[in-house]
Amino acid sequence: MLPRKPCLLLSVFLLAVPVFAQQPSAAKPKPRVIVVGVNGMELDIIRPLLLKGQMPNLSKVIEKGAYGKLRTVSAPNCPRVYSTLFTSTNPEEHGVTGFIVGGITANTNMLKEEPVWSMLSKSGITVGMANVPATFPVMPVNGYMISGMLTRGKNCEDGVLCAPKLSEVMGGDAVYPKNLQAELLKNVGDFYIDCERMPGAGDLKGHEAEFINKWLGKVQVIRDQQTKLFDYLLTTHPTEFTFLAQSCEDRTGHWLYPITPFNVGYNPSINNVRQDAFPNQYVAFDKVLGSILEHVDENTYLIIFSDHGIKPLREFEEKDPHAHMDHEKTTPVIAKHDFADGDDVPGSFFAMGPGIKHDLRLMGLGASVYDVAPTLLHIYGIEQPKQMRGRILTEIFDGSENKVAMQK
Ligand SMILES: [Zn+2]
Repeated sequence: MLPRKPCLLLSVFLLAVPVFAQQPSAAKPKPRVIVVGVNGMELDIIRPLLLKGQMPNLSKVIEKGAYGKLRTVSAPNCPRVYSTLFTSTNPEEHGVTGFIVGGITANTNMLKEEPVWSMLSKSGITVGMANVPATFPVMPVNGYMISGMLTRGKNCEDGVLCAPKLSEVMGGDAVYPKNLQAELLKNVGDFYIDCERMPGAGDLKGHEAEFINKWLGKVQVIRDQQTKLFDYLLTTHPTEFTFLAQSCEDRTGHWLYPITPFNVGYNPSINNVRQDAFPNQYVAFDKVLGSILEHVDENTYLIIFSDHGIKPLREFEEKDPHAHMDHEKTTPVIAKHDFADGDDVPGSFFAMGPGIKHDLRLMGLGASVYDVAPTLLHIYGIEQPKQMRGRILTEIFDGSENKVAMQK
């Protein structure tokens, strides 16, 4: 259960007088930034799709901007990495060390360091967030917030890797301000807040193809709902800073990664059913991206990132205490990301916008999840607070030297 106490820490963050804000002059419009988080986007799967022309929208972003791997934290999982990205502090400092912390599902009350969206909000920037992991219960911002992964509700009481509908949320608010909820139910419909729970091994046995196809069908329903939600918000509630996230890709990878008989956990009755399932998630994501790009003009920054990648299980990792711990359910996972060495599963980073270099590939692991918040603050001219461990990704901006990056 969630503690019932109000969120003291974040209330303090949000009510405090801005310390670092440098208010831009009234004449100069504030930058517009759209951030899209894709849970567990795996470059090994993406690259062939790009080559085959099956991700035309992401290709466009790569041509017009900078991209590369994004170093993540050790034993990465979604709440752990997103909270690191929000605060640019390490998991022990910000407190959201995993899905469950001290026996309780991770929630925003646990965040001990100020997240970037709170800093932007306090600086007078309008903030809109939808389906971003680890933002439940929602917090007041100068705009709106709709929670994402770890939202609790009917048939998803612990909030861990399941999907309550907006109308079925329990144990806290999923929408800020409250009156936005009725508006969304009316104009967008009753949508699933997170991706579908994966089936258990027992359910699958003997019904593999049926379960897999049914599950993938539900995943697409959820993605269609998200696309409609994002489009509605970007159209009717445009904000200077917008942060949207998707999570079905990662879950698909966990049990339907296109592995071969040489990989650990290979079970032909599951793994031969839909070898296209995981790559198809990114083809489908590219269409969502196309709908978001309709709202991106030459003055808009677009940042797409993933919190980690995902790789097939490795034999020796089966003896690792982390092996098969992903998602904590009984699903027969054949790929995972909470490897002790986070460098085994880097995330990815794509950025384009005014003053960002074109066709720039970031080499190595020079950019990390810690660097996203300082870079966002930099775009808005806000000084990086001293607790932030990351750095501004100066190499992506025009006029910088290519010390870390390489121009193609
Ligand atoms: Zn995962």
